[in-house]
Amino acid sequence: MADKSFLVDTSKCMACRGCQVACKQWNKLGTEDTVNWGSHQNPPDLSSTCYKVVRFSETEVAGRPVWLFFPDQCRHCVEPPCKEAADAQVKDAILKDEATGAVVYTDKTKKLKAKDIQDACPYNIPRVDKKTKLLVKCTMCFDRVKNGMLPACVKTCPTGAMSFGDRNEIMDQAQKRLAEVKKKFPQAGLLDADDLRVVYLVLEDRKLYHKFAAAEGRGISRQAALRKLFKPFTTVAAATAVFGGIVQDTHR
Ligand code: SF4
Ligand code: SF4
Ligand code: SF4
Repeated sequence: MADKSFLVDTSKCMACRGCQVACKQWNKLGTEDTVNWGSHQNPPDLSSTCYKVVRFSETEVAGRPVWLFFPDQCRHCVEPPCKEAADAQVKDAILKDEATGAVVYTDKTKKLKAKDIQDACPYNIPRVDKKTKLLVKCTMCFDRVKNGMLPACVKTCPTGAMSFGDRNEIMDQAQKRLAEVKKKFPQAGLLDADDLRVVYLVLEDRKLYHKFAAAEGRGISRQAALRKLFKPFTTVAAATAVFGGIVQDTHR
């Protein structure tokens, strides 16, 4: 089975919350008491009974009021910092499925220091189940995907805002869609796409969506940090090569 990824195209999301409900249904998650806190976003945040929440941001772009929607969930990081933190405490409490890339929390998470794992996540995802003491989050619907089915949230989405498939194909799809929407929305972008298996396409500045939409340098893994360091180094190396009279075309 090939490495998997999601594309969440927020330009197609109409905030119907079908994905949020499908996630609850498939994972047999209970309900929770909520309050009116002045937003249609309900519940107000992720929780141990809500692995996916559609965030509503009422904001302003170029003097116009806009409503931005962001179906938030675990990003299934390529090099998950939560796993790195967990491995330092309890072996195999958090697993990465080699076939799909899903980051899976096991029953051993109850032995972890929850705050350390939560602090390691740049996207503010893991939650503690107060009854079981387990750390919980989106599973990538690992059980469905292993049996050739789509994740419940993707299967339910009526607008095509969510896609799921082989990583190479999803990344191609994301780049093509980005080129298309950039014609009308020059600020559009893909959030931390190289480091994540849940790739968000946003139309406006990422900060307008919510505080944890992108990592913004918080807690990225050692490997990801090295990759980011390596990029400027290649630019310097290329410049050195050119000015030294050695011209190499590395794109061939
Ligand atoms: Fe929920 Fe499954 Fe979608 Fe994750 S992949 S948000 S567990 S429905
Ligand atoms: Fe772990 Fe957070 Fe990455 Fe999910 S988003 S894999 S919880 S670090
Ligand atoms: Fe958006 Fe699709 Fe989720 Fe509805 S089901 S909130 S359109 S991502």
